[in-house]
Amino acid sequence: MTEHLNHFIAGTGVEASDGRRIALVNPVTEQVYGSCARGTAEDVDRAVAAAQRQLEHGAWRQLDGAQRGRLLVKLADLVERDTDVLADLDADAIGRSPLEPRRLDVPNAVANLRAAAGWANQLEGRTIPTGGYFGTKTLSYTVREPVGVVGAIVPWNSPLMITVWKLAALLAAGCTVVIKPSEETPQSALHLAALAQEAGFPDGVINVVTGYGAEVGRALCEHPHVAKISFTGSPEAGREIQRTAGVLFKHVALELGGKSPQIVFDDAPFDDALRGCALGLFANQGQVCAAGSRILVQRGIAERFAAALAEAARAVKVGDPREPGVQMGPVAKKAQFDRVNRYIQLGIDQGATLLAGGVSTPERGWFVRPTIFANANNEMAIARDEIFGPVGTVITFDSEDEAVALANDSTYGLAATVWTTDLARAHRVAAAVKVGAVGVNCWSPLDANLPWGGVKTSGIGREGGFGGAMAYTEEKVITVLLPT
Ligand code: NAD
Repeated sequence: MTEHLNHFIAGTGVEASDGRRIALVNPVTEQVYGSCARGTAEDVDRAVAAAQRQLEHGAWRQLDGAQRGRLLVKLADLVERDTDVLADLDADAIGRSPLEPRRLDVPNAVANLRAAAGWANQLEGRTIPTGGYFGTKTLSYTVREPVGVVGAIVPWNSPLMITVWKLAALLAAGCTVVIKPSEETPQSALHLAALAQEAGFPDGVINVVTGYGAEVGRALCEHPHVAKISFTGSPEAGREIQRTAGVLFKHVALELGGKSPQIVFDDAPFDDALRGCALGLFANQGQVCAAGSRILVQRGIAERFAAALAEAARAVKVGDPREPGVQMGPVAKKAQFDRVNRYIQLGIDQGATLLAGGVSTPERGWFVRPTIFANANNEMAIARDEIFGPVGTVITFDSEDEAVALANDSTYGLAATVWTTDLARAHRVAAAVKVGAVGVNCWSPLDANLPWGGVKTSGIGREGGFGGAMAYTEEKVITVLLPT
């Protein structure tokens, strides 16, 4: 299939202003299967102008929360109707099995849209008692207003779900948006924009400009009429975005990477912990921000647990994700393939024990074997850096204090999992780890009502939940003089 994808601006498909395009490459076959528009600053300008028109003078501005909520419900229904289409778009773009997005990403997107429909009507202000104004009584109250035009910058690993986390919340708040999907995975964002048009969102509320981060992404961050940048991606890009947008005093929300610990105590439910750790390592080929790639195991069970995890890694069937029985496809792109292999070699060179997998040299397609290292320490590159591939590093600890210290000895702080049957210990460790989300005896649950985000290098701000929608509002205070 040859795809020719364009921007979606003010309800219409638009070529790049200079006609340039980006090739889309299939990670299974390494063949070019289509292209998308390579956006320019001029394209961004056009999209922001369309979004701003709707925000300031358009039909969108006239809608109240309940009306925005109704549109969100319609969009949720359409996304649900197109579950298979959207799952296929995301899966094929990165060589993932469509079963995962069908079961997780699309239902999660639908749930977010439905939850946001409820939030749209609940963005309330406050009345605030004051001492009055030079002896005259006053009434002071606040209202929640949309923050403005949002630039939503999205990565390639779960394109639809992450786009919707931003979109649902900002639409609930009454904002308008220019979405910049990853240059590798623009398909589902464009389909979503078409569904929004079908749902009845006014043209210009949702715009999509495809292209590179250094071009489209940067132009959004520098644009004077973009009020907020909501970014999900790497810390390197996040740092640059904060610098650029910060100079212009834009709101910036950053959802960055992770090196999340899974802490397995010797009283853990062994088989559940094993399944949970394998899921946390191998879901989406390990290309998950919350991947539980640092597996901290208490000494008494460490050897047995590492061996069982290696066995689970060897049992994963790797291949074309469209073939029956295949559980893991290739990683998404050549740069990612090279990166993962480089880290596997580093793990070997730095002295960790390779229990399963290893450097991969497939004939065709960016396939990486699920890899498990044991006898590692927390100073090794494979324990410190986000690899973003199916590579797990097992580190042994003796005491609870040591486990917490190891968990916190990371520049990242996105998520952590605690595996134990000791209730008091579960709560103690959950309180002590410096991360944005903790799972006890479960890996990284995602729910539309739960906040999501990290601390330290994992980011700033939270998406999800009611607070996620509030983050797209400004609080304005109004004071009325009440002379008697
Ligand atoms: P990336 O930072 O390379 O790109 C992410 C997006 O930002 C893309 O759309 C890209 O084009 C754009 N971009 C890149 N440089 C930019 C710049 N200077 N200015 C503006 N935009 C720019 O990341 P990626 O490789 O697409 O995704 C992988 C990263 O995303 C990993 O670090 C992963 O952990 C992180 N991630 C985090 C979460 C989370 O919720 N915390 C979720 C998914 C992925």
